[in-house]
Amino acid sequence: MKKYIAIILFVLLGQIAVAQTPYVLLVSFDGFRWDYANRGLTPNLDAIKKEGVSALSFKPSFPSITFPNHLSIITGMYPQNHGIISNYFKNCQNEIYSLSDTAAVRNPKWYQGEAFWETAKRNNIKTASYYWPGSELTDTNRRPDYFKAYNHTEPHQKKIDGVINWLTLPQSERPHFITLYFHDTDSQGHKFGTDSREIDSTIAVMDSLIGVLRKRIELIGMKDSVNLIILSDHGMTNVSEKRDIDLKSLLDGFDCEVNSAMSLTMIKPRFDKDLPRIYDRLKKSESHYKVYFREEMPEYYHFSQNPYIFPIILIPELGWSFYSYRAGDHKSNAEHGFDNNQIDMHGIFFAVGNKFKNGYKTGTLSNVDVYPLLCEIFGIFPRKNIDGDIERIKFILK
Ligand code: AMP
Ligand code: ZN
Ligand code: ZN
Repeated sequence: MKKYIAIILFVLLGQIAVAQTPYVLLVSFDGFRWDYANRGLTPNLDAIKKEGVSALSFKPSFPSITFPNHLSIITGMYPQNHGIISNYFKNCQNEIYSLSDTAAVRNPKWYQGEAFWETAKRNNIKTASYYWPGSELTDTNRRPDYFKAYNHTEPHQKKIDGVINWLTLPQSERPHFITLYFHDTDSQGHKFGTDSREIDSTIAVMDSLIGVLRKRIELIGMKDSVNLIILSDHGMTNVSEKRDIDLKSLLDGFDCEVNSAMSLTMIKPRFDKDLPRIYDRLKKSESHYKVYFREEMPEYYHFSQNPYIFPIILIPELGWSFYSYRAGDHKSNAEHGFDNNQIDMHGIFFAVGNKFKNGYKTGTLSNVDVYPLLCEIFGIFPRKNIDGDIERIKFILK
């Protein structure tokens, strides 16, 4: 008899624990620059500003590029520490990591940080992802309980339906942490620039999706229990072929490997003896860009302590780019990947729900602090080796 009472108590306590576990929906709008929310096009973000928390801007980690920053948000680590230093790079064995290579993107060996869904799994919290870089790993212990293979053309409505379906699963199967991702502001920003009619209409459509999402959450009776965090990985700035740094001429006569994201560019000479010569040439011609040896990168970038970072790093002045170098494969009106201290590279951060303060406006937040924030919300221990710091962000919680 005692045994049965103990089992019943155990089950009941488990159910109470699940019932008390919060819900968090983390939504990323790729390349949604901080000021897009101030163009009078975003009534749903305005509503969250009134009801919840809004930050002046959301600072990305360096480099201000998609994969490094989604991983920084979800692990609380700088790219040099979580290992995804760019959207495309090589390791010391010359193996390639690329966002367009599904096998590489799913290979756990590239990911050195612990994503929040791993931390959650160790704490018996179910998680789900309707896209997030690093959410499709082949190792089941390292990915969310539910995930979707990335499809660039997935309709918006289908993603929202998917999230609502997860939130209406029976209690025992329902995820408490869900990510959702939209690429549109990044794609349209690159294509048409940050001052275009096209980007304005995309901003308005993305904002309307927030409205739909909140309405659907209300209709399933979860308005008071789901905490919604809306953020972006980086901002965007206009580039032009008229502000081109002629990298081909600068490197003329040298045999070297170049990894150029159009903005951030890394160089590795084929022969070590060329290293000082290339650096000297680039330093002498230093105009509209900065050149650094990896070891002398300013500390504030946190971008030197990883063997996959090439020995020479070039960072163009905002708005300037290695345009002609990439012209063949990459015509673009706007880019990111610049100095993450530049306000144009900053994104957005909004949050609303029972865990967040009401009508609270804060200054700039840093994206490595989201992982410890999530741990705080769920009342679980973060990893000790992170770069994020709960003390820099916990004032936004009630
Ligand atoms: P970028 O502008 O080059 O930094 O990268 C943005 C692009 O990353 C998007 O347009 C998507 O095509 C791609 N992307 C975003 N998330 C994923 C993902 N989970 N898997 C594969 N590709 C992704
Ligand atoms: Zn991005
Ligand atoms: Zn982009």
